[in-house]
Amino acid sequence: MASGCQHNKGDRKQFLKSQVLPDRCRHFINGKYLDSCNGEAFKKTLPAYNESWFDVALGGTAEIDLAVQAAEKAASGPWSRTTPGDRAKMLHRIGDLIEANVETLALAESVDTGKPYSETRNGDIPRSAQNFHFFADLAAHQNFETWIGDDGSQHTTIREPLGVTGLITPWNLPLYLATWKLAPALAQGNTIILKPAELTPLSATLLCELLNEAGIPEGVVNVVHGFGANSAGEALVRHPGVKAISFTGETSTGSAIMRDGADTLKKLSFELGGKGASVIFEDADLDLAIPTACRAAFRNQGQICLAGSRLIVHEKIAQTVVDGILNHIKKIKIGDPLDDATTMGALIANDHRDKVAGFVDHARSGRLGEILCGGKIPDALPTALASGAFYEPTVIAGVAQNSRLIQDEIFGPVLTVQTFKTIDEAIALTSGVLYGLSCSVYTRDGALAQQFARSVRMGMVWINCWFIRDLHTAFGGMKRSGIGREGGRYSLDFFSEHKTITTALVAKL
Ligand code: ADP
Repeated sequence: MASGCQHNKGDRKQFLKSQVLPDRCRHFINGKYLDSCNGEAFKKTLPAYNESWFDVALGGTAEIDLAVQAAEKAASGPWSRTTPGDRAKMLHRIGDLIEANVETLALAESVDTGKPYSETRNGDIPRSAQNFHFFADLAAHQNFETWIGDDGSQHTTIREPLGVTGLITPWNLPLYLATWKLAPALAQGNTIILKPAELTPLSATLLCELLNEAGIPEGVVNVVHGFGANSAGEALVRHPGVKAISFTGETSTGSAIMRDGADTLKKLSFELGGKGASVIFEDADLDLAIPTACRAAFRNQGQICLAGSRLIVHEKIAQTVVDGILNHIKKIKIGDPLDDATTMGALIANDHRDKVAGFVDHARSGRLGEILCGGKIPDALPTALASGAFYEPTVIAGVAQNSRLIQDEIFGPVLTVQTFKTIDEAIALTSGVLYGLSCSVYTRDGALAQQFARSVRMGMVWINCWFIRDLHTAFGGMKRSGIGREGGRYSLDFFSEHKTITTALVAKL
């Protein structure tokens, strides 16, 4: 991979076009880049510029079959004889290679997604490397449970690889979420077929170069590009050779995967939609709560399942908090994702931007709330960005709990505002949605924070913060936000078969 460190900031696009981007994102099967069997490909549009700089091989049943064959062969080859320590060394090597190529990967991720380079350079890509380092250490030092029975017999439960596993990932944090699944699956000795989102094929394709450089045996990791239903995604889910599917994406897609995986009894892990909230009590430190809530709503253009897309604030401080948020929004700089000064880039695609705009238009036409700022495509974009997928950060106050704006995942830069008087009301508003992924609560009262955290139906609650993660902990949601948990030993458990080995003791006391 061309090192990103040498390019001059003004030449980022040129550097990408001439040295980084492939003419086509090809599949990676059995250690080699391949076109589709019938040569089919689709155009990839870069969301900030509404231009296409490369196309993508279109995979389906045939390419998934090839990938499964390669992964099955690799699952019984030298990879199956590696120890956790061997695999830990390999994972650290991959993590090191990602770090050595951080700038190039960050630039590629930014043009592919439209998100600011500052976020991919300092967030997504370093965290992708960290995923490998973390699971390398965790899996190398795992221990097993042993129980001694009443009769003195010894029972040990060990973890073994599942075999061929399928990973299906979304477009909002492409490399970060792919590596969040790849690293534990590899650490546990599985072989893998990754189906990246059709809208963001680039970073996974570039990662394969690094996997080869790290010396990962052929067939251990395979990448097949394509769409979901009636395409590579569905073929992967239906394939009888694939033992498990780890999926992050929309709730409705999770339902389809569950249906398609039923015949072959797939083991499933689902991280689905969210409708997070920032809940601010009267005694909160507003110098902390306001900027954090603003970040929670608008980071990655609001396209994060953990986004705090609902502001739920005590009525006595509502005006102060809303004024503070509106002031913060004025500092957001919408622009070219490759510019260092940009803090808000493009949404993933124009049709997704139109879907987000549709929610706001629905609020406007139905007088469902008061639009306090934004609610439109920015007027003063430079020519190069004029047809990109941009949308202004938007705040809508006074929305009813049963409105689509509160109930549906908008997945864009739209923050709703609701007020409460009592902790019970705050809990009811926060939990009163079909999703149950995450929320933040801001208060100086430790007991109140605990009471709130334990009462809400959310898989993750942040107290006086947002988006801080320790990779050991359980990550995932309740209700329609998912099934199972990822993170630390939860990921290792998912990517394992558990086997119990019992030894009867001959000598009896
Ligand atoms: P989004 O609409 O935000 O792209 P999706 O849940 O549709 O979210 O997509 C997430 C991932 O799931 C993508 O890689 C997509 O191709 C894949 N996908 C979508 N539909 C299916 C399906 N029916 N079977 C398997 N994978 C799918």
